Amino acid sequence: MSTGRLIIDLDAVVANWRALDAMTNCKTGAVVKANGYGLGAGNVAKALFKEGVRQFFVAVVEEAVAIREELGPKPEICVFSGHMKGDTGLIRDLGLTPMLNSVEQLTLHFEALPAHPFGIQLDTGMNRLGMEMQEWAAVAELALSQDPRLVMSHLACADEPDHPMNPYQLDQFKKMTDGITAPRSLAATGGILLGPEYHFDLTRPGIGLYGGLPFENATPVIELDLPVVQVRDVAEGEVVGYGNAWQAARPSRIATISGGYADGIARILSDKATLYHGDTACPLVGRVSMDLLTIDVTDLPETPSKLTLIGPQQTVDDLARAANTIGYEVLTQLGARYNRKTFGK
Ligand SMILES: *Cc1c(COP(=O)(O)O)cnc(C)c1O
Repeated sequence: MSTGRLIIDLDAVVANWRALDAMTNCKTGAVVKANGYGLGAGNVAKALFKEGVRQFFVAVVEEAVAIREELGPKPEICVFSGHMKGDTGLIRDLGLTPMLNSVEQLTLHFEALPAHPFGIQLDTGMNRLGMEMQEWAAVAELALSQDPRLVMSHLACADEPDHPMNPYQLDQFKKMTDGITAPRSLAATGGILLGPEYHFDLTRPGIGLYGGLPFENATPVIELDLPVVQVRDVAEGEVVGYGNAWQAARPSRIATISGGYADGIARILSDKATLYHGDTACPLVGRVSMDLLTIDVTDLPETPSKLTLIGPQQTVDDLARAANTIGYEVLTQLGARYNRKTFGK
């Protein structure tokens, strides 16, 4: 076995859900889009369902197939992209709840599947998904008369607690929904941390469940170890990897390990990433290849059989920072060919 070993701890996912749930007095759903942020939507949803979660969110209808298969008919599965042409069959057959984003989607839904559950997504300033103030004003009465399961919006800057966009969007959301009887939802992970004003009837955490920022107290969920394929000595002045990008400044020992940009290890980490052998940091030298990394292990007292890329020494967000991105992207890019070990629940 020469692929990396990705350990996924579902008990940690459940612990994170509980911790986020305990911060509010309302219901807590779970966002499992993008294959559960790369960690396996079926497994994640099953563990959370056992914990009592009854409302799941996906980005597009196709993502609901695996979850419905795993969990059966009980939980509600909401679709952020709403009801698009071509979605009708899956929405009907899987009993999905589309979050309708426009008058066009509302019309399509009411015509194609009258009396089928739906929710409404409102745009409170992000200008991405949902009906804007005026559009909503025109159809609110009709939509609300059909008992939407949820009326929701999404915050653009919730990871920055002091950003004026947060109270602005809160105010817009209230203006658009105060007085309605349908359940309301505004907060994802970041919104939960902003405090009770933002919680309404249901929260929709994603990244926090998977151990990522902005949930600073999250329990880490994954570990990633990459096996050493080969170790060699290089003399001072010799070069390593594509483009001769690194040159040894001293006699060095280089470990070639399995894992590369095809596994989601961003090429921008060339000459930048750090891997760990226990607590000892080992720098990645030269370029990230498609399938391989070259690591300077000169200072290790022994020849390692594997090196750790994500673990207690370096979190998903540490690695994201080194790659100039966010934890969300690191997780969702985790490669398909890792040897995945999912344990817990
Ligand atoms: C992805 C997403 C979430 C979850 O956000 P996190 O920041 O991962 O908690 C919630 N709501 C909507 C509309 C989303 O697109």
